Amino acid sequence: MPSALPLSAALLSLLTASPKAPAPAAVTGPSPQVAERLIGAALTEGHAWARLAELTDGIGSRLSGSEGAEAAVQWAKRSFEADGVKVWLEPVKVPRWVRGEESARVLGSERFRAHPLSILALGGSVSTPAGGLTAEVIEVRSLDEVVALGDKVKGKIVLFNHAMREAMEYGKYAGLRTRGTSVAAKAGAVGVLVRSLATASLRSPHTGAVRYDEGVERIPAAAVSVEDAELLHRLLAGGPVKVELKLGCQTLPDADSFNVVAEVKGREKPQEVVLLGAHLDSWDVGTGAHDDGAGVAMVMEAARLIGKLKPAPRRTVRVVLFANEENGLRGGRAYAEAHAAELANHVAALEMDSGGFRPVGVVLRAGPGGAELVRSWLRPLEALGAGSILQGEAGGADLSPLLPARVPFVGVRVDISRYFDVHHSEADTLDKVDPKDLAQSTAAVAWVGYVLAEVPEVLPRPEAPPTEAPKAPAAP
Ligand code: ZN
Ligand code: ZN
Repeated sequence: MPSALPLSAALLSLLTASPKAPAPAAVTGPSPQVAERLIGAALTEGHAWARLAELTDGIGSRLSGSEGAEAAVQWAKRSFEADGVKVWLEPVKVPRWVRGEESARVLGSERFRAHPLSILALGGSVSTPAGGLTAEVIEVRSLDEVVALGDKVKGKIVLFNHAMREAMEYGKYAGLRTRGTSVAAKAGAVGVLVRSLATASLRSPHTGAVRYDEGVERIPAAAVSVEDAELLHRLLAGGPVKVELKLGCQTLPDADSFNVVAEVKGREKPQEVVLLGAHLDSWDVGTGAHDDGAGVAMVMEAARLIGKLKPAPRRTVRVVLFANEENGLRGGRAYAEAHAAELANHVAALEMDSGGFRPVGVVLRAGPGGAELVRSWLRPLEALGAGSILQGEAGGADLSPLLPARVPFVGVRVDISRYFDVHHSEADTLDKVDPKDLAQSTAAVAWVGYVLAEVPEVLPRPEAPPTEAPKAPAAP
């Protein structure tokens, strides 16, 4: 664990400097002393990093229903208690999927020798028959292409190849992983390989959830490393290629788990809630350091620092560590259901789930006038490079069930340019998280959470969402 992070006097003075121009009269600005106490502590104490080390190195991966997930729930409860923050557990039934043995190889032909492929079953995938399945590969770039190929897909393993190069393209291609398998099955395919949704690769495959449509045959699906997707592409250029795929994964009965909920009660309007969330589960590979251990560490530390303020903020700050974001969203749904009666009093919700990187600004989903209001509070984040409102909408998979209640969303956006280098892979481990970046994002979350709970004004609520059921945003 690194020692306390240096905070230069110059930076601290920037954080706490009074604005040069007087603040608009209508806005009561939060005090510079509180900014120093929250932001200064987050930047120098290294507490979020220490928590993240406990979660990742101490517990490891935390897929829903696993021993790691249960250990993480107990760890979070103990940690909040140690921090002097009131905490309780809310029950959630979660899916339990286990990976089992898995392998894949290109079968040799007169043109080339056999090659092993680096794969990871997609979360939720069914197994192959015990001896594996062998079929010719057909390569496509899009869901439409599968449909256009018609009968040519029958009996084949569909390879979804794509051209993801940058983090911003994740949303564009994530549908190949979540929806591609059912599209391929409808066309008669027997299995699916999806090129990993990655911006860098040392031949490490990146998993993620597969969604099976009702009434469509469930066929096995795996992510293949970028390098092996390229290999298959080159081999296919010379003629037919057969792959053998063996997946031993299983779906077991649902397991008992919990959302971990903690809060600092508001001094004046305790019934009004500012929700700070992150998801405690991770995939079963790597240790979920960026996804979403970093988010967990940030919101836990925000609660610890806000909990030490005397007096407490005007409203309640509630931290929710959601269960099962990765393969079911049961935690997000269970929270919205259990708290339905008080959602009208949720004045803001924020979810950190894009890695432990440096903060770059703030995003919103609020009604007219929201941006002007928030902009006036962000001056203490300017020295961190996070003092402005950015284009785009705040959200979060676990917050999506709150959309019908028109809860305003706020987000601290981080620099995601390197997130998909490690996302959902064996490489998502603590060494990939920069302690300084994590500390800065933690500072930003603590400050934003505090001002939302403290200033007299609340964010205007956004318009009602479209009448059809809101779709969960592609989970970062
Ligand atoms: Zn996540
Ligand atoms: Zn994820």
